[in-house]
Amino acid sequence: MTFQAVSVLAIPLDFNSSHLTGSAAAPPVIQEVLHNGSANLSSECGVDIGKDTRLQDAGMLDWPDQASAFNCIEQRAAAIRHSGHKLLSLGGDHSITYPLIRGLQTNKNPLTILHFDAHPDLYDELLGNRHSHACPFARIMEEQLADRLIQVGIRTLNDHQRQQAERFGVEVHEMRHWKGVPALDIKGPVYISIDLDALDPAFAPGVSHHEPGGLAVRDILSILQQLDAPVIGADIVEYNPSRDINGMTAMVCAKLYKELAALLLRDCQKS
Ligand code: MN
Ligand code: MN
Repeated sequence: MTFQAVSVLAIPLDFNSSHLTGSAAAPPVIQEVLHNGSANLSSECGVDIGKDTRLQDAGMLDWPDQASAFNCIEQRAAAIRHSGHKLLSLGGDHSITYPLIRGLQTNKNPLTILHFDAHPDLYDELLGNRHSHACPFARIMEEQLADRLIQVGIRTLNDHQRQQAERFGVEVHEMRHWKGVPALDIKGPVYISIDLDALDPAFAPGVSHHEPGGLAVRDILSILQQLDAPVIGADIVEYNPSRDINGMTAMVCAKLYKELAALLLRDCQKS
């Protein structure tokens, strides 16, 4: 499939969060810091996302009630895909990745998901909620919406989630074995999901679940910059502005946004 453009969609949903809410407030904060003049809009490889008209704002998603939110996300993702656009989503909590992938994968095309997180998010359910932000990748793998799930940054595997990872054949790169940026052999289309708590809290304090012993910003950037497979979509989730310090984590989101946008634009048709 050829793509013409990239749509950026804000999804202010955090009612599937455990422990703390607050990530619903993230999208406008990320957009504000991206455009406040403190940094330019160029990715490190030189793609100026401020000038590229193929990067388009799809606005903020809304839904009539909580029960229909996932349907609204899925339908909007499918509509964006069918219009020939790729999708860059700003969350919100991590539960949104499941309906996003459902919407993008209506034809169950070959897909690798590259998932950065402290947590594997493979719970069958958490606190009685099968749509919890701790569950999206269990739902995705149950429905065989991805051929490969590669997780990087993981440091909270308990017995249940270790069993789930084995059951679904997840390729887990645990932090306890970290020896620098791994060589990830990714060939076909890839979707990138970045949970900000993959990063060490020292780099990204603005998250609900501080989990020490995590990645550096440079680790994620290096992995993104080594990818040569086509990227069909991406999300940035779990930024919680109410936990941030001097907007440091908002700036990390803006940095990741620029690098992801550049990756997504790479194989779109020239405007
Ligand atoms: Mn997560
Ligand atoms: Mn997480």
